[in-house]
Amino acid sequence: MGYILTKEAFDKALKKLAEERRIYAPVLKVGEGRFTDTDVVRYDFVTGLSEIELSKKSDYAFKEILTPLSETLFFFTEDEVKTADRDPREVIVFLKSCDMHAVRRLDQIYLGNGIEEDSFYKEIRDRIKFVLIGCQKSGEDCFCVDMGTNRTTEGYLFSVDVVGDEIRCDVKCEECAKIFAECGGREEAVEPAYVTENATRVTIPENIPNSIYKSPVWDEYSVRCIGCGRCNFVCPTCTCYTMQDVYYTDNGKVGERRRVGASCMVDGYTNVAGGGQYRKTKGERMRFKVLHKIFDFRKRFGYDMCVGCGRCDMVCPEYISFSACINKVAKAVEEEVSNGSN
Ligand code: SF4
Ligand code: SF4
Repeated sequence: MGYILTKEAFDKALKKLAEERRIYAPVLKVGEGRFTDTDVVRYDFVTGLSEIELSKKSDYAFKEILTPLSETLFFFTEDEVKTADRDPREVIVFLKSCDMHAVRRLDQIYLGNGIEEDSFYKEIRDRIKFVLIGCQKSGEDCFCVDMGTNRTTEGYLFSVDVVGDEIRCDVKCEECAKIFAECGGREEAVEPAYVTENATRVTIPENIPNSIYKSPVWDEYSVRCIGCGRCNFVCPTCTCYTMQDVYYTDNGKVGERRRVGASCMVDGYTNVAGGGQYRKTKGERMRFKVLHKIFDFRKRFGYDMCVGCGRCDMVCPEYISFSACINKVAKAVEEEVSNGSN
């Protein structure tokens, strides 16, 4: 089922949906970029269509709604624990196809990676629904086609494509269809736009021999990478976090426990008791990150973690390209295999 609406009619429908829900979407923040006079596209709560940036790729991922950078899980006293209150309203998140695929990776880690589901994540996840933003043009850093994430056909309430003065929506939710019809939408079959080619291409090696761990391919990153962790924080599939207990009292028995985002690229991530550190060089950290995204996760779950959104390439202050690194690894693997390494 599909609907074509004018921008005014779509805005009216959105406002109707927002009466009982919150809408979380990419927003162009003018002048709030990393450098003077630069803009940034990041997620925020919106109330209408005019606030949503539908054409540009967001610099930061939607994931902060599911896994906030800093989240109070519960409060504790000497003999009581109380979980933190949360806004009980449903949230509708606008995102592109690659990010829809990233949701599957987040669910895999928080809900399907062990005996127990993460109850804090689940509570938020159960209240979240998605709107698919059609992709009419590939970003220059995107490599979603090679990662198989360029198209999404289910899991969303409706899709949005701006074509001229009209909004075209593929609608999967009956309540939304009713609202679109009431707001003057014209019923017509719609297929969400998706890209079929990217300028950036990657070759994912199928099998990676153990010898790649000692390959010189990682050495350049020990020199170039400054370990800032930006690549992890913008990544829609990075899920690492750390715990912080914040005490309100001197006796250390009253306070709150927070879950805080962590990065495998920054100093301290692999510190262990006794002063040990597993991955000291940035090259070792890059190796861990890259192989996790394109090999280790697949070995465990059957599909790759990276969705090819290209955000890590966009944000790196040292112009380190993740996609270029994948291709260097693929070449190194080919050489190792032809040399008979295992
Ligand atoms: S590793 Fe880079 S390209 Fe892959 S999902 Fe994360 S941010 Fe996107
Ligand atoms: S953003 Fe670039 S410099 Fe910063 S940790 Fe990632 S790869 Fe290294």
